[in-house]
Amino acid sequence: MMSGDDSSLVMEDRGSNDEPKTPDFPKKTKTSYDVIIIGAGPAGYTAGIYCSRARHDTLIISGLLPGGQLMNTTDVENYPGFDEGIMGPDLMLTMRKQAERMNTTIIDDVVVNVDFRAKPFKVLTGSEEYEAKAVIVCTGATPRKIGIEGEQTFSGKGVSYCATCDGAFFRNQDIAVVGGGDTCMEEATFLTKFASKVHIIHRRDAFRASKIMQDRALSNENIEVHWNSVIEDIKGDQKVQQIILKDTKTGENKTLEMGGVFVAIGHEPNTELFKNQLEMDENGYIIQKQNTETSVKGVFTAGDVHDHRYRQAVTAAGFGCMSAIDVDKYLSEQK
Ligand code: NAP
Repeated sequence: MMSGDDSSLVMEDRGSNDEPKTPDFPKKTKTSYDVIIIGAGPAGYTAGIYCSRARHDTLIISGLLPGGQLMNTTDVENYPGFDEGIMGPDLMLTMRKQAERMNTTIIDDVVVNVDFRAKPFKVLTGSEEYEAKAVIVCTGATPRKIGIEGEQTFSGKGVSYCATCDGAFFRNQDIAVVGGGDTCMEEATFLTKFASKVHIIHRRDAFRASKIMQDRALSNENIEVHWNSVIEDIKGDQKVQQIILKDTKTGENKTLEMGGVFVAIGHEPNTELFKNQLEMDENGYIIQKQNTETSVKGVFTAGDVHDHRYRQAVTAAGFGCMSAIDVDKYLSEQK
């Protein structure tokens, strides 16, 4: 385990020509911070900007997908400050640069364990152990799976969770999009750029998506909606070729030729790491006890990992700001 003592970062200068020179070993990684932020979506980057501006030595450990869910998004039209909209990845890269300019250290690594039982808190990646006086959990959420066998079999072979990433692979083919929320509407509309036809598969007879997003999808002549329908099976050889669609009202099955299946049925919070350490609700979202503080004093949270209601980039960024302000207050009280 590394000590985290800053003095160990400086190589000794012996100052004599006679003595053999100390070999140029790589500098020891700094492992001790005021604040560690786990996750690098809008919440994490914003928390980093605010913590660093408050002069707290701040580390962001980005996780598997630096930038978070917006890396899988095309046009973002509702993030204030961009009158013509901005591409999701561009927005995230800008936030990252802004955090770095404020002196936030960002490491693209994955946290494999945490220990919030004693202070300083410990955060472990595959190769390093870090410690911090305060932690902000901003690990976001992951797309939900339908849970049928064919989904697993053809994942990456026609089954996708990201229209932006994979849509262009399905030019001139029929594509199914499963869901009924805003994500489904957005992805279905986006996929009409490539598909010969987009089929929205929805399990009920009404969408929960916002009116404007519904209208956009429903008025698109390249989108057909299959109400009260679920995918029973996905079939193919090397890749997706057919779906078996079940009508939930009549129980009847029908087979549709399909080049791809996009799953857009919501998300699961990324909280596995924090089980038995932070209090969560019945769906696994972290509970904020007081303002943005979790059930552990000194551990805070921001973004989709606790917020299943708003789930917007701008609200995640707002929560990131709030958590950093709470951390600042907490750290000054510790002094
Ligand atoms: P969501 O609102 O939770 O919708 C999930 C949809 O998937 C629902 O229609 C649900 O059906 C359906 N579903 C859930 N589990 C299913 C299953 N096992 N099989 C079949 N269908 C299933 O999720 P979301 O669309 O990802 O949106 C999440 C949040 O992000 C929302 O607050 C949304 O407003 C926001 N968002 C906003 C934008 C934007 O403003 N640009 C874009 C994307 C998302 P039921 O309705 O029957 O439950």
